[in-house]
Parts: sequence; C-alpha cells; structure tokens
Amino acid sequence: MIDARDSDCRVPVQTPVIEPARLRLREDGIPYSERFEDVYFSAAGGLAEARHTFLLGNGLPHRWARVQRFTIVECGFGTGLNFLATWQAWQASAPAGARLHYVAVEKHPLAHDDLARTFAAWPELAPLARELTGVYPPPVPGFHRLHVAGGRVALTLLLGDATAMLSRLDAAADAFFLDGFAPAKNPQMWSAALFRELARLAAPGATLATYSVAGEVRRALAAAGFRVEKRTGYGRKREMLVGVFAGVARPRREDPAHRHAAVIGAGLAGTACAERLAARGWRVALIERHAGAAREASGNPIGILHPALLADRRTRSTFTTAATLYAMRQLRILDRERCPPRWGPTGVLQVCRDPRRLERLVRARESVGLPDAVARRVDREEGCERTGARTGGAGFWFAAGGWASASSVCEARLAACENDVRRLFQCEAIGLEPTGTDWRVLDASGRVLAQAPVVVLANARDAMRFDMACGPRLRPVRGQVTQLPEQQGRPLRAPVCGDGYVTPAVGGTHCIGATFDEDDSDCAMRAADQAGNLERLARMLPGFAVGCDPATLAGWVGVRAVSADHMPLAGALPGAGQGGLFACVGLGARGLTWSALLGELVASAVHGDPLPIERHVADQLAPGRQLREAASS
Ligand code: SAM
Repeated sequence: MIDARDSDCRVPVQTPVIEPARLRLREDGIPYSERFEDVYFSAAGGLAEARHTFLLGNGLPHRWARVQRFTIVECGFGTGLNFLATWQAWQASAPAGARLHYVAVEKHPLAHDDLARTFAAWPELAPLARELTGVYPPPVPGFHRLHVAGGRVALTLLLGDATAMLSRLDAAADAFFLDGFAPAKNPQMWSAALFRELARLAAPGATLATYSVAGEVRRALAAAGFRVEKRTGYGRKREMLVGVFAGVARPRREDPAHRHAAVIGAGLAGTACAERLAARGWRVALIERHAGAAREASGNPIGILHPALLADRRTRSTFTTAATLYAMRQLRILDRERCPPRWGPTGVLQVCRDPRRLERLVRARESVGLPDAVARRVDREEGCERTGARTGGAGFWFAAGGWASASSVCEARLAACENDVRRLFQCEAIGLEPTGTDWRVLDASGRVLAQAPVVVLANARDAMRFDMACGPRLRPVRGQVTQLPEQQGRPLRAPVCGDGYVTPAVGGTHCIGATFDEDDSDCAMRAADQAGNLERLARMLPGFAVGCDPATLAGWVGVRAVSADHMPLAGALPGAGQGGLFACVGLGARGLTWSALLGELVASAVHGDPLPIERHVADQLAPGRQLREAASS
C-alpha cells in the first residue's frame, strides 16, 4: 500500500531492483554486454570514438569555451568512458570557475570491479578513473549526485530505465549523448517516448550526437523536434548523426548575475546550504544569533545516519536513502579537508524484535528496490557480530550508514568554504524587507544585517516569525539524549537503532536517544526521559547498561522542528512577491542524514542547476505543498 502523501502517477508502485550489467571483457579488451549482445564502444578505439562522435558531434569543447555552466545528458552511462573523455576535455579547456553537469542514465550499472577493470585500458585517464571509482554509488535505483574534480564537475547518475528516469529529471540540457546499444538490439533506448523526454529537457540550441543513423531513429528524433543530419562516423562506421533542437525549448537557466545570498541559521540546514552555495561561487552572509554554529537542535553530541525506511512512505524512504548516501560521500570529502568532522562509516544495525515490524521493513526495502549492499536482513547472530554487542533480536544491517557529531559536521562545512562565507554570528534576524530586487535582512533595531537577491531561511521554527503569508508551518519536538560513559568490556562498534538509537563510544561516551515529544519546547533535562532512554536501550541491547543509575548520567536536550507530514521543507517559498526566498527547515530528528542533500537541492534550485533528486520527490519537499494542503483542507 502507498500512503496518500506518496501517491504520484509518474512513479510505479514498486521500484524494480537494479540488475547489474553482465559484462565480459573480450580478448581484444573491449567490454561486451552478454545481456544485449553488443559492445560498449568501438573496437577501433573507445576514447577516440567518444571524442569524435560525442564531443565533436556536439561542437565540444568549442561550445563551452565561453560559458560558466554546461549541462550534458547521456543515455547509457555504461563504463563511463564518454564521461571520462568529457571530463578530461573540460579540464583542459573550460573557462576558470566554470562547472560541468553531466547527467547520465543507466539501467544496468557495471559492478565496481568491472569499472576498474575496464579503465585499466586507458592509462591516460587513470587519475580521473580512480576518482570516479571512489565515488561510484551502490546499485540503488534513482538519482545519485556525485562530485568530482574538486566540485567543478557534478555527475548525476540516474539508475533505472532511461525513459522513466528522464521523466523525473528537472534540468536544461545543452547537449545529449545518445549511446544506447544498437537500436535493433535495444529499441527501448531509441523510443519516441524517450526522445520526447529529451525534447522536454532541451535548452535553446541543445544539440545531440549519436553513432546510429538508423532510419527509425532519425524519424523519431525529427518527430520530437530535433533537426538531424548525417556526418562522417568514427572507425568502421561510415556515418553518424548530429542534431539540434528546433522545437520550443525550456528557457536556458542563465547564470545569476549577482551571486550573493544570505542564509539565516548556522545549524545543519544552514551550513549545508551555505557550503553548497559557496561551492557554486556564491558569496554568503551566514546569520546566526548564537556565538557559534550548531548551538540549538543541531548540537546533538553524536547522531546516526541511515536510510530510516518506512513502509508506506516510499518517497520519504527514497529520499532518505539518497540523502544517506550523499551525506556519507560529503563526509568523505570533508574528511580530506583541513578541519575534518568527527564521524565513522561503521554501518548501522536496526534491531526489530517484532516480526510484524521486521516484515514492514522488508516491504519498505522492497518498495524502493534497495540491494543487499545497502540494506540487508540479518539474524541476531550476525547483528551481534557486526556491532560487537549482544543485540535484542534480528534486524537490518545498513552498511552505508554511520555516526557523526553534528556540530563537527557544521564546523567542517564552514571551514571548507571559509573564504566565501561571512559569519555574522551573534546577530539575530527578525525581519525581511523587499527592495524590488534584493531582500534586506533586519535585526530587532531595524539594522540591515545583510542585503542579497537570495535569502535562505534555515532557522527552523523561527522561519515562521517573518511576516509572510507563505511562511513555513512547523511544530516543536523536544528530544532528550542520554550520555552513558564507556566501560571496559562493553564494546559497541556500530550504532544500533530500533525504538531509539545508541552510538559507539566517542570521546568516552555513548549517546542514547532520543525522546520525541511533539508540541513540547521545554529545554530542561528530565529524569523520566533519562530512564525512558535506558529502557529503550535495554530493548535494543539487553544488559548493555544494566545497573546504571539514570540519575547519575549527563544528557542533552534540543527542540527540533517538524512539518505536519514530517518531511522537510526545502526549496523556493511561493508567493513571496519578488522571489528569491528559499527555505530549508523542518529537518526534525533527521538533520544529519538529510541536510547535505537538502543543501545541494536548495543550492541547485537557487543557481538553476539540474536538481539532484527526482522531480516528484522535490515536489514533496517543496514548501509550496503546505499552501496546497491548506487550500484543499
Ligand atoms: N556510454 C557508454 C560508455 O561510455 O561506456 C557506453 C554505453 S553502452 C553502448 C549502452 C548502455 O545503455 C549500457 O550500459 C546499457 O546497460 C544501457 N542501457 C540499455 N538499455 C537501457 C535502458 N532502457 N535504460 C537505461 N540504460 C540502458
């Protein structure tokens, strides 16, 4: 069953699991698909073919020489050779500060090892290939935004059937690479429905190139609005096809002239938005009423990141899975920086003692098509082995999860963008004033703290204090965490969750959390909540804290903000007159897991980049949904 909140006609009821490529390296070193009985690229030289057919065929690199952003959509990522050839050419010829968006769809992704084996044939691409294999995602259906080349190249891999995936993409493409297997062997990749999606995505002047000159391909492309012509092909192919979109294109997303933004709130949401905007060349004023980042709900000492699957909430599970994978990749990137966060990619065990709940978890996993590599049912013994602790029952192992200190994540993000983010700390924003082009952010005395065409509200429930008809509506949720001192002979290698969660000891302390009291904003510690947290712990890890007196334990209290449907509100605020107002609020107890991808989503929307998540998921996160819900209730 699908929750009414998740119903969406564009999305099938069940997401099919990804079937990986069945690849064989032929004796001549050319990768061959057993499934399609075709080669991935020309035996006459794959790299040269990529350059001739796809780059030159689209007028590249010449066309990107004077632009700050270029977007390519490829049908058939395969081994990623076209991508690496493009990235290499971009690196050699793109203007300083320019960014490449490469969106590629793939139904049968190569296994990690196959990717590495294939790249061994191209020593000149070795550094790029290594970087790609380092971020290559597990076979989880849907969108994966990956950053390489120090953030100058964004690769968005859409894993699933090309037509279905492209129908969920929000992007304005400058060029298309059509690289499915031969039309006779794989007509799905050359269908009229797919070409209609390309037409929907085409920016003005969008071009395409493909090695196929089949009559039905030419006719279907023409019917979709592309003017096509033949050119000299590569190698043994006498001809190839190029085309230009001649229909009504979606408006090109011009690069914003003034890349200035104010972000209000320096918690997980605000630091994520600020860092992602700065990565796009924006200058950000980060306004925070406290003297430092993460002083309110984001101050939870240690929290966990995992897909938190919910049966009947498929969109939420899809988003949370993508967000977990993205957040863990971001942590890996930040880990290499000057101020690394405190975190551990340990995996997370979810204990499920109730067989009906376990069944629901199995259904939730199936509904989003997760592979074992990400979420695997485990018996009690395996759970004990993986965590090193005696667990309360069978459950699920989320290999892609882990733990992190939220405040250290905020600090690491700010350190990574310190030259572009001006910290206006101990400044409290209480008013917003439109000037016609900009927003003025005012404090209580009417002083202008910042002025910018874009303002992102990332200050949780305080976003409601700005006097706007369209402001977000959020409720408080009190959460108390209990801190349990580490003890010899009581190991815990990975976080365990279930009714609540417990983390491995970090700095000598386990964190056990958290209570979830809606409509309660009292920040005082409560003895009853300490005892309640220990009871939850006893169900997840029986005997772990036996004999411990809750009255002796330290703790932490935070008040989070949640929306009515417990989904975050991220994106443009509708009806704000001149526009330029965005929100990233309502992260509830999932800030660590959600914030990185939400920051990327908001920054993409602000900057006009391809969205990193499916359109229907973005719709369900959009603050405007609250207006629609209010109107229909
Ligand atoms: N561009 C690739 C490269 O650089 O290695 C080669 C692409 S290969 C010729 C075609 C790719 O299309 C394969 O990886 C195949 O799995 C993928 N494919 C086939 N049918 C598909 C479909 N319906 N949707 C998405 N991808 C598909």
